[in-house]
Amino acid sequence: MRDDKSPGVPDFVLIEPVSEEALIENMRVRFQADAIYTAIGPVVVSVNPYRNLPDMYTRKLIDAYKAKHSFEMPPHIYAIAADAYRDMSTFNRDQCIIISGESGAGKTEASKHVMHYIAAASGDGAREADVTRVKDQLLQSNPVLEAFGNARTTRNDNSSRFGKYMDIQFNRSGDPVGGQITVYLLEKSRVVRQAAGDRNFHAFYQVLSSGALGAGAKAADFHYLNQSGVDTVRTINDAKDFTIVKSAMRILGFTDLEITSAFDIVAAVLHIGNINFVATSEGHSAVCTQAGSQNALNNAAQKLGVTAAGLATALTQRTVATRGDSVQAHSSAEQATHTRDALAKGLYDRLFSWLVTRINNSIQYIPQTSYDTPSVIGVLDIYGFEVFELNSFEQFCINYCNEKLQQLFIALTLKAEQDEYASEGITWEPVEYFNNSIICELIDAPRQGIIALLDEECLRPGQPTDDTFVTKISEAHQNHAHFASRENAAHRSDKTLPHGAFRLRHYAGDVTYHAQGFLDKNTDLLQRDLRVLGGSSSVAVVRELFPDAAASQAQSGAAKRPVTAGTAFKTSLAALVNNLEQKQPNYIRCLKPNARQQASLWDADLVIHQTRYLGLLENVRVRRAGFAYRTHHERWLARYKMLHPRLWIGARDTYSRSDANLPAAEQCRMLCQHLGLGSDDFRIGRTKVFIRSPRTLDLFEQTRAR
Ligand code: ATP
Ligand code: MG
Repeated sequence: MRDDKSPGVPDFVLIEPVSEEALIENMRVRFQADAIYTAIGPVVVSVNPYRNLPDMYTRKLIDAYKAKHSFEMPPHIYAIAADAYRDMSTFNRDQCIIISGESGAGKTEASKHVMHYIAAASGDGAREADVTRVKDQLLQSNPVLEAFGNARTTRNDNSSRFGKYMDIQFNRSGDPVGGQITVYLLEKSRVVRQAAGDRNFHAFYQVLSSGALGAGAKAADFHYLNQSGVDTVRTINDAKDFTIVKSAMRILGFTDLEITSAFDIVAAVLHIGNINFVATSEGHSAVCTQAGSQNALNNAAQKLGVTAAGLATALTQRTVATRGDSVQAHSSAEQATHTRDALAKGLYDRLFSWLVTRINNSIQYIPQTSYDTPSVIGVLDIYGFEVFELNSFEQFCINYCNEKLQQLFIALTLKAEQDEYASEGITWEPVEYFNNSIICELIDAPRQGIIALLDEECLRPGQPTDDTFVTKISEAHQNHAHFASRENAAHRSDKTLPHGAFRLRHYAGDVTYHAQGFLDKNTDLLQRDLRVLGGSSSVAVVRELFPDAAASQAQSGAAKRPVTAGTAFKTSLAALVNNLEQKQPNYIRCLKPNARQQASLWDADLVIHQTRYLGLLENVRVRRAGFAYRTHHERWLARYKMLHPRLWIGARDTYSRSDANLPAAEQCRMLCQHLGLGSDDFRIGRTKVFIRSPRTLDLFEQTRAR
């Protein structure tokens, strides 16, 4: 048994009966006793305490988890990290740690605890300086990515607005030698627009606090910062964070020039947002002559290393390629504003990718020979299932991602169970579970999937719109059990379904997606003129953001199709899943106790929702379908052999040939039979005892207590 003195049971497989209520009640009593971690077999479930638990993350505890096996210790993130590290270094098996949960549940904090554990528990005997540098760099990648990729939202003051996967690489002695980061889908729409109560990405306020936008410049002065009503956050010190980020960038090997250029680009984005346009008499557009717009234009151009005239032209006109020739087309003021926002989003998104590439160049370990190939522990910190009032393309992608990861989770959990039964020589009993591949295929099937149909609509000549897209997918999936829209006869009278929207029945629940903006967000093109402009910059980092400067865009429809955002996401997700499948999986499932970011407050409804999104009950069921509890022969005997008169050491005096010398498996069998278990209540595997029901375990414990 685990040495866990907290109330409730330390592993959800031991709850009785298996029900949502029992599961949540167990979570609640533990949460209220600050036992924020509970296991489901090898999975750790974490509830955000929203306050510092001083004894929870000490060096002493790291050492304790390093020294003992996780099944002897209370559930903890360190237990997951320790198991992963041990399995990697002992058996040379690559690991991944998959962290999921909704916004504010504690994923990013959990990933940092994993990294801290690894930094503290590894590399003891190594050449100190090297290993220390690597550990330092791995840890310093966090503040940099958070500055550029996190933002305050109403759910989380430090919300990650991108998905992140990080491989930590180890040599054969188990010392960290490097790392590699992959990021997914930065929420770039935030650059130009934030919902009430949200902020833009932290980096913008950090630059503002540095004075680089002019003395006395305030958030209120910038269109991209003054829409949401919030510019300072109680828990955030932008000026201090700016210093931390710059120092982290230096540790990561960025040059001073690179650091200056990166923040100049951030400043440029803010200036770009203040450029306004007026309609000219011909229906064309021009940059507004007011000082505000003109200064913004000049400042943006200067920070980007381009001419103000060049920038103004690229915003108000576009080159249209015709057969063998090209002409200048003029944009309306409205189109120019749209182009301006596209430039701001494009610049920022490209800057973020550049930072990741640049960090990877510093931290990545390049093996010299094939013998040198590092082992890895991958940590995935990715957005959880999202349902908002209004769900758009971003939620569609994010929820699709969760659907894929759920599929992987169930498949891997089942597989792990099957593998264990096989290695223990026990017959496998099939488990019933909900297979969500049908939803994944609805979204990503090659020709008829929603993403494929969206691409088709984006590229279709004529006048495709978000509405024609809805019509198209509605026709294709008329009778699909997981798809609904008002365009379909079956749902025509369903008033909860607006026009121009579609609803998917996800494993975690129904979500209605508003199609407005889908085509635009999917096409995701930065006009060629803007790319050419960026490529001509006098600033090296700006030029590096535009490797595609000269590449032509879909010229008259005939040229090579540019990759759409939806397909790019689908492809990167497939690669991710494929990568995770090759590794030993470990899971951390995060929940938050309330939506107010408050300590000690338990909102039962909110917890129920998350429990469903995470499929926790399904997890417990799968894990318990066969045998709820299992442990090694020796551990079983150590705890319970006193219950059998012939196995107990003290019995040796009475019996001439004590049964305590029999093989452990045989002794375990004797014990189970002695307590009256039927042949179906337990199995004795090669190394472990399997117990079907937690009640049986109670019986042993109670008999022992007598
Ligand atoms: P998002 O999806 O928005 O990025 P997240 O799941 O990554 O959310 P975190 O940023 O990790 O959420 O956590 C939100 C906040 O909750 C943290 O800033 C911290 O204040 C608190 N928190 C999370 N985990 C813990 C913990 N283990 N102990 C104390 N506080 C925590
Ligand atoms: Mg996060």
